[in-house]
Amino acid sequence: MQCGAAFNVQSFMALIVHKYGGTSMGSTERIRNVAKRVAKWVRAGHQLVVVPSAMSGETNRLLGLAKEVSPEKPGPDALRELDAIAATGEQVSVGLLALALQAEGMASVSYGGWQVPIKTDSAFTKARIVSIDDTRVRADLAEGKVVIITGFQGIDPDGNVTTLGRGGSDTSAVAVAAAMKADECLIYTDVDGVYTTDPRIVPEARRLSTISFEEMLEMASLGSKVLQIRSVEFAGKYRVPLRVLSSFTPWDIPLDEESRSGTLITFEEDEKMEQAVVSGIAFNRDEAKITVMGVPDKPGIAYQILGPVADANIDIDVIIQNISHDGKTDFSFTVHRNDYAKTLDLLTNTVAPATGAAQVMGDPKICKVSIVGIGMRSHVGVASTMFRTLSEEGINIQMISTSEIKTSVVIDEKYMELAVRALHKAFDLDAA
Ligand code: ADP
Ligand code: ASP
Ligand code: MG
Repeated sequence: MQCGAAFNVQSFMALIVHKYGGTSMGSTERIRNVAKRVAKWVRAGHQLVVVPSAMSGETNRLLGLAKEVSPEKPGPDALRELDAIAATGEQVSVGLLALALQAEGMASVSYGGWQVPIKTDSAFTKARIVSIDDTRVRADLAEGKVVIITGFQGIDPDGNVTTLGRGGSDTSAVAVAAAMKADECLIYTDVDGVYTTDPRIVPEARRLSTISFEEMLEMASLGSKVLQIRSVEFAGKYRVPLRVLSSFTPWDIPLDEESRSGTLITFEEDEKMEQAVVSGIAFNRDEAKITVMGVPDKPGIAYQILGPVADANIDIDVIIQNISHDGKTDFSFTVHRNDYAKTLDLLTNTVAPATGAAQVMGDPKICKVSIVGIGMRSHVGVASTMFRTLSEEGINIQMISTSEIKTSVVIDEKYMELAVRALHKAFDLDAA
């Protein structure tokens, strides 16, 4: 079990990928600090590839400018331009970091995703990485340089700049680590690891020294934005040793201490993890609920309702169908809040007339709260503890969805923080 350091920091010439998030790159002073930290690793004998994000707030600022110029929901041509605009944030970061390293006396070179190249598909604003050619990077490392590569961006088969979706620098870093078979990928951020829940919402949240890959995957997919879900998928697929840690420790803390800090994502279950029934609580306010009332309860109705939604490229999350009364039933599902208006429109104007539905209703002010833990596989009564806790707080559950290691509920958005705090306590996750 790789509970301590996943690799030996004493070993010479480990290949390490560092990723620094927006807050960690938030000012020129912080960038100089990042450079000092990176230089410490290089001076200890390691080869470093660094993947920074745009400076904090920069991606929002850039996308805000785009919205000022073109307020409508972007069409296919506009998405290409949005990526060209958003990718510039990371472009500035890599240049500044390379300069800061050079000022530290470190040879370093920066690359945009297209220069590496990091090849992606053409799904602008949510492109997927297809391949990474590490020839150039390896040559630089062999010459003793620190290589700085933009997070978040790549290039499609037609030579267009693409971006990987918000939070995508995590994925860039893990993908580079996977492609180069790095000894470890360290995700430096503004918290000192993965917590039982977002520490900004629950101050009593505890840092986990390890979390299993499967749990991390669920936490990320259910709304814990500490890692972008695709980065966790990459780590699992290529078994990338992955650690989340703070960039706000003094840059000169001893390397072995730094390399054991934070949270290690593990690929094997150990005894300690088996004991924790619920490891974490995730929440997501980005969803909206749609209900189709009074549809005929007959074979094919789910397809008649959800088929057109899928055809419109809208992702569907939680789904429930009520028991029927008088041959009619109600059907509810959730979509991303950005797709709410479009989905409501589609159902009201197309699906309802075609199915004979009595009414279409929507509620964008919902949220999804989930408990996650591999211990749920072997313990009964976990969901009922969740439901009891919510009922004691007077919180009405609108929808439920379960899988082997998670239970999610959809509730009124205004109760989100209350629900998360109550569940955190009920499952003994509060720090002692
Ligand atoms: P970065 O800019 O470094 O990529 P992010 O803002 O994307 O940082 O991710 C770090 C943030 O994730 C933290 O500041 C924290 O508020 C949030 N977060 C959400 N859930 C968790 C969790 N379970 N553990 C730690 N942080 C979490
Ligand atoms: N700068 C991008 C964003 O804000 C990517 C990232 O930070 O990971 O989403
Ligand atoms: Mg992030």
